[in-house]
Amino acid sequence: MTDIKEITEYLKNYDGPEICIMEICGSHTGAIAKNGIPGILSEKIRLISGPGCPVCVTPSAYIDRLIEIAQTDGHTVVTFGDLLRVPGSRCSLQEAADASYKMVYSPMDIIDLAKADPDRTFVFAAIGFETTTPVYALLMQTIIEEKIKNVKILTALKTMPEVVDLLCSSGAGIDAFIAPGHVCVVTGSDIFKPAAEKYSLPFVVSGFEAEDLLSTLYLLVKNKGKGVVINNYPAVVSTEGNKKAQDLIDKFFEKTDASWRGIGNVPLSGRSLRTEYTEYDAGSRGLDYDEKKNKACSCDKVIMGKLSPEQCPLFGKVCTPSTPQGACMVSPEGSCSTRYEYG
Ligand code: SF4
Repeated sequence: MTDIKEITEYLKNYDGPEICIMEICGSHTGAIAKNGIPGILSEKIRLISGPGCPVCVTPSAYIDRLIEIAQTDGHTVVTFGDLLRVPGSRCSLQEAADASYKMVYSPMDIIDLAKADPDRTFVFAAIGFETTTPVYALLMQTIIEEKIKNVKILTALKTMPEVVDLLCSSGAGIDAFIAPGHVCVVTGSDIFKPAAEKYSLPFVVSGFEAEDLLSTLYLLVKNKGKGVVINNYPAVVSTEGNKKAQDLIDKFFEKTDASWRGIGNVPLSGRSLRTEYTEYDAGSRGLDYDEKKNKACSCDKVIMGKLSPEQCPLFGKVCTPSTPQGACMVSPEGSCSTRYEYG
């Protein structure tokens, strides 16, 4: 079946066994909500959001460290806009007194800032998944080649396979996964093969248009119970991924344990600067990752697909996009803010 009308009809009228499908990627969460996809599905098909919004899974200790840096004389934190509003254990970066920070659209923008003010140290808040890590590697290569000494990075980089393995074994009852298209451009679709085979679950790599997502859902429903990886985004994703980008990542970053907000430590689910580049590290290793958060915030369960946002007692009352209590309400890709925005 390739006709999108037939696919839509199939998904609307599906009356087989119930199926719970998780979209791992925050961009998919936004695209599904914007296109009103949940509203056209049979009630036997349930969609839940996973831990693929980089801002949402950044722990409060990391935010606290950014604030500490931003409040240090002669230092400026450089970051994407979303991160400014993420709550740390006491406040967010934008609420912190006397914090020096700049918002940019690309990590490479830090180079011009550093050249224009050589007496100041600029620290990039390097968060993200496999999708954005190559840009940080390129940044590292550029500052080393150009002998720029006043740029450092603070890493909280994450990798997908390990947390996906945790989700599969967590008892959340997930039957199928929409695999993240942007991540797979870099890693290749085969990255999800071990989990697919180990847990007999289908993974379908998807694009971001409504038609891409509907055909992905169709493939997932049809392959329920099978340990397969299907590449439904072949225009940009290959089995093996972008080897050049992978090599660049490996040159500067090594696999390390990582702390995920709401989940805790997940062994080898992150990347840190290799020890030979320690002089460029603004203190990423050895942070106290004990989570300190609003105790009523249920981000941990939302991120693991065990609770939907509106089941959190703070949702839409105390916690809104202008008063976020947890990271899931901060980013437009976060499960809670997407649900608040689109219902
Ligand atoms: Fe946390 Fe707010 Fe989401 Fe509740 S609604 S889980 S407090 S981010």
